[in-house]
Amino acid sequence: MASSRRKCSNDPNTFCYRCGEYTLKDQRRGIPDFVRKAYFDYFKVKLGDQDKPWAPHIVCKTCNEYIHREEGLPHYFSQQEGLVFCNDIEGLLLEMGVPQYKPEDWRLLIDSSKRSLKCVLLHNGNKYASIPTGHSTKLKVE
Ligand SMILES: [Zn+2]
Repeated sequence: MASSRRKCSNDPNTFCYRCGEYTLKDQRRGIPDFVRKAYFDYFKVKLGDQDKPWAPHIVCKTCNEYIHREEGLPHYFSQQEGLVFCNDIEGLLLEMGVPQYKPEDWRLLIDSSKRSLKCVLLHNGNKYASIPTGHSTKLKVE
């Protein structure tokens, strides 16, 4: 027998949908349409439980900024046979704030194990953060 008296005393919208952290009132933001679209594109289902009163309907300011920062990046990547890779290095670097792409300023790090492959561009002077350019968890050594 479900009791109507049993109810969480915490408002679910005090927690971020993305990171699950407690979020102060002035740090709360609505879930951006980009997230709803990306979630649907990836999982092939709508963002979960948004019709339920107990589900969080907000993201924190930090997550919102990360989401918007990454919003323009997916079209620089392609996926083929289990490998996700950058299809426009110069465009990606410009999008991420590198003023000019000079291939000689960067080196490619390829890290692999039995279960994954990771490719990252490293700046020779460490002036810029590492840039992920390829990833797979589905490739197999033959
Ligand atoms: Zn968050």
